[in-house]
Amino acid sequence: MAGRYGGGGQGRRHGGGGGRGPGRGGGRRPEPEPIRGVRDDARLSAELLRMDGDSYGRYKSLTGDWDFGDFTLTVQHAQADPFAPPSRVRVLVHDAGIPKSAWADPVRRRATADHLGRRARRLLRGSLLRIDTGGQEVIERSSCQLTDGGIDLRIGIDLPGRGRRIDGRAAEREFCATLPDLVDDLYWEEIDVAEAEAFADSVADTVALRAQLEERGLVAFVADGAILPRRSGVSDEPMTGGAVPFESPASLRVSVDLPHRGTVTGMGVPEGITLIVGGGFHGKSTLLHALERGVYDHIPGDGRELVVTRDDAVKIRAEEGRRVERTDVSPFVRGLPTGADTSDFRTENASGSTSQAANICEAVEAGARTLLVDEDSTATNLMIRDERMQALVHGDREPLIPFIDLVRPLHRDHGVSTVLVMGGSGDYFDVADQVVMLDAYHPHDVTERARALARERTDADFTAPRPRVVDPASVDPATARGRSRIKRRDMDVLVFGDHDIDVRSVEQFVDPGQITGAGLALRELVRGRHLDGARTLAEALDSLERALAKDGVTLLGGDFGGDYALPRRHEIAAVLNRLRALRVAEQR
Ligand code: ADP
Ligand code: MG
Repeated sequence: MAGRYGGGGQGRRHGGGGGRGPGRGGGRRPEPEPIRGVRDDARLSAELLRMDGDSYGRYKSLTGDWDFGDFTLTVQHAQADPFAPPSRVRVLVHDAGIPKSAWADPVRRRATADHLGRRARRLLRGSLLRIDTGGQEVIERSSCQLTDGGIDLRIGIDLPGRGRRIDGRAAEREFCATLPDLVDDLYWEEIDVAEAEAFADSVADTVALRAQLEERGLVAFVADGAILPRRSGVSDEPMTGGAVPFESPASLRVSVDLPHRGTVTGMGVPEGITLIVGGGFHGKSTLLHALERGVYDHIPGDGRELVVTRDDAVKIRAEEGRRVERTDVSPFVRGLPTGADTSDFRTENASGSTSQAANICEAVEAGARTLLVDEDSTATNLMIRDERMQALVHGDREPLIPFIDLVRPLHRDHGVSTVLVMGGSGDYFDVADQVVMLDAYHPHDVTERARALARERTDADFTAPRPRVVDPASVDPATARGRSRIKRRDMDVLVFGDHDIDVRSVEQFVDPGQITGAGLALRELVRGRHLDGARTLAEALDSLERALAKDGVTLLGGDFGGDYALPRRHEIAAVLNRLRALRVAEQR
């Protein structure tokens, strides 16, 4: 196709360069002056070729804006040496011809941006340019945003070098050929519009379905035909051969009307207490995992596009060793051998059971109304206590009130539903509203049979955990040396200032960018005065959520140079609760 740039391209708006770059950085070593004068693509090309063989640090002189006609390239950060983290550039395409129908509505806008981001990643394969895109979920992210009709891309690039010398020719190719070609190929007239619209339609259907759940009294929906199993334990792509498609049991089947797909049937998971039973390896955890991820929208072809869970759903697990800061765990824990007040409980090192109790109480505090629990990752002594154990260890020696005695009051008095996988004990038959058995990946409604086996059971009381007010000064991303540091290490750790926050057990982080996003959200909670020392944590999260709904995920970024994606309020709360510096000022 005819390029919109390069030698003599029409419609190019030259110039405007002089002095538009930022001033000298505040680094320790002297920085090269930004290139001055006309800063357009022809000049960038000439400069890069001229720099060939210069010392690597000269790349910094590229910092600032470059006018390519219908897009602006901004070199935001040039790495100091070839081994430093990649450099960052921003590409602002002023008008890519994207029609209003693709961006006016926030859901379609997110979907279209995601779709274009994925296309950009494919087009950049084999180049030095890298764009952050999602896995199987469609999550708002910083790397590709739609401006009305235009596109705003954030891209990383390993600036090419030969040793510590600039490879100007390679850099020129990336900036002055690959990048303009990429922009060309993102124009609406260049893309497969039907595919882009189908992508947005699919996401819009998922969102519409999620919006229907509450009024139908459901916490989740699993469509007939959905493919739940994944390719492997390390791949989130659908299983290729031998996957048994989901088929709802008739008694739980509901049909929903969706704006694009029309009528769809599947299993509705009602509010209340749902037990998932079945033999080992029959697909229980796979179903629960799909429900955990059903709070997000999935790309077409994933198999879980219509596996949808309410966004108040939080996965609960035991998490030995976590810190707890003044959480009210008294519904579950009373009379510890230490004599500690469990309505104002603090520990640097929670046990399996107390960590799970804290996870539940904190989730409810932050607004969770659906708990997802898998026996595979729970503390047994918090889940059940059988008669023989009660006979041996008397009530007054046992500080724990098991979840089974609280799961009904949680629903009845607080509207908190539970979906629980439990293959190893029938005790929960006593409290379950419905029981689904998986048999060779086929779900059956066995509620009647389970009820026939149930016994009378007396519930305990669940009093709502006391809301906490966080001391904003304790949430500080500054290191001892005064620099702000928010960084992710794999899917395991969020570095926040001088603190490592262990996020391995926060299972509904599905995207590396969300972990960084949660770190930025902590900063924004304080910077935006959502955490003001007076609001409760839940009120602060409400306030941040409102700001994010209005301004979008880039509210979190500001001067931040890396990629990030939108976390949910529940994961923001989880990260805050795991920050070892956190101080709670008071309980309400
Ligand atoms: P459970 O929790 O009941 O022990 P899992 O959910 O861990 O079982 O599933 C056991 C195995 O079966 C996993 O390897 C999983 O990928 C596979 N699996 C789960 N659901 C299906 C399905 N619908 N079709 C084919 N394989 C499945
Ligand atoms: Mg399992």
